[in-house]
Amino acid sequence: MPEGHTLHRLADQVTATFAGRVVRAASPQGRFAGSAALVDGQVLVGAEAWGKHLFIAFPDDRFVHIHLGLYGKLDVATGEAVPPAIGQVRLRLVAADRDWQAWADLRGATTCELVTREQRDAVVARSGPDPLRGDADPDRAWARIRRSKAPIGGLLMDQAVLAGVGNVYRAELLFRHRVDPLRPGSTLRVGQWHAMWEDLVALMREGVRTGRIDTVRPEHTPEAMGRPPRRDDHGGEVYVYRRTGQPCHVCGVAVRTAELQGRNLFWCPRCQRRFRSRALQ
Ligand SMILES: [Zn+2]
Repeated sequence: MPEGHTLHRLADQVTATFAGRVVRAASPQGRFAGSAALVDGQVLVGAEAWGKHLFIAFPDDRFVHIHLGLYGKLDVATGEAVPPAIGQVRLRLVAADRDWQAWADLRGATTCELVTREQRDAVVARSGPDPLRGDADPDRAWARIRRSKAPIGGLLMDQAVLAGVGNVYRAELLFRHRVDPLRPGSTLRVGQWHAMWEDLVALMREGVRTGRIDTVRPEHTPEAMGRPPRRDDHGGEVYVYRRTGQPCHVCGVAVRTAELQGRNLFWCPRCQRRFRSRALQ
């Protein structure tokens, strides 16, 4: 599933390509046809991401709300001619100049709906702070975490606690801070949380810049360690994500995996020692 950095990149791309331009909107597949017709021929105001939600703004407080889910894809391209829509294109946006054309095709998304400002605000209100937004308040997430007995590994991916973090950032953040994924949120210290938040902001900003998730410190890059680069379709150099059975880059112990709330957790059993609270014994 795309994580927050991907949505912020897409928002930037849609804004850079279409903002201030009249766009043609259509639904070649048909499922969004009625709504597409309502914004067709209007000026696209801009796009913004909030966690894994993307909002494309049109005049009169209309927003196309997109959630890519597990399999959705939004492709933005420019060229000399718009190609025919291939496959199940739910939404196609096109902007054209005399010798320049741009188009965006949305396929396979969980959500694609036309919403009002109130509906957009309601989605935002249900979401936790997004580390990639300048207006994010980490204390809102902390207020939830410190009161929860749920494992921190689950809380980090709960979009009502924190918006935009997916499985990769979750696993890597916990590793970088030596935190057991199953440790109850309520046992974390506030200083630990602030360090994790600041790290997350830096890691995710780097993800927006490069388009991939790299989380290893300079001393653990392939070059520094004299090891081959990672081969994985997710790209990026990481410590534990999808490295089950491989040696930890820090201590050499085999990385482990287990399921938590339907998603795979990855951690190093030595670097992230099992948390035992005196209060819980
Ligand atoms: Zn380790």
